[in-house]
Amino acid sequence: MSARRASYRSIASLQRDNAACRACAEAGYPIDSLPVFEGHAGQKAYLFGLAPGIVEGEERRPWRGRAGKALRRWLQLDEERFHETFYLAAVTRCYPGKPSSGRGDRTTTPEERRLCAFWQEWELRLLKPKLLVPVGGVAIKRLLGLNSLACVGERIELDGGAVAIPLPHSSGASGWLNAAANQARLERALGLLRSELAGTDQL
Ligand code: SF4
Repeated sequence: MSARRASYRSIASLQRDNAACRACAEAGYPIDSLPVFEGHAGQKAYLFGLAPGIVEGEERRPWRGRAGKALRRWLQLDEERFHETFYLAAVTRCYPGKPSSGRGDRTTTPEERRLCAFWQEWELRLLKPKLLVPVGGVAIKRLLGLNSLACVGERIELDGGAVAIPLPHSSGASGWLNAAANQARLERALGLLRSELAGTDQL
């Protein structure tokens, strides 16, 4: 059985249990990697994606594939600075595998997302990030409760003084960025994000 304690006092102990989590497999879902996340105590910027892809699942490092390269290009951060800056987590942390069509990656179920929310909720409690960056509609919904990418380009103030700056997913799988208005939303979001990072030495 996957271990989940009633409470955690450190990110290190949370990570030890998260790294060994098999809750979705135990519930009968065909996940295809071990959990993928990366970060350490003290990081105040929390980047929250959808799920690892096949490359990330194999390497057990987040954002290693094409979507990660695009995201770093957007953020103007090299890989080292990207990893220094952000605690990297996701709505679900195991590569979900291929769907029966063989095209793309399997869409995770609400139950898998619910099972994995345990780790995210404890991360936020322990890290208390000042900056939250949900990437893509599912992550935005999970973290902010918003149902649309219309919030991209906004700086959202949260309880406790934290700020959220949502981004669309960088995988290129959706056509959302094909619209000029949405490109402008993305540019606005990236500008906000860069100034948030530049203006906060503690991040
Ligand atoms: S997706 Fe999350 S809850 Fe499911 S097995 Fe992986 S780490 Fe555990």
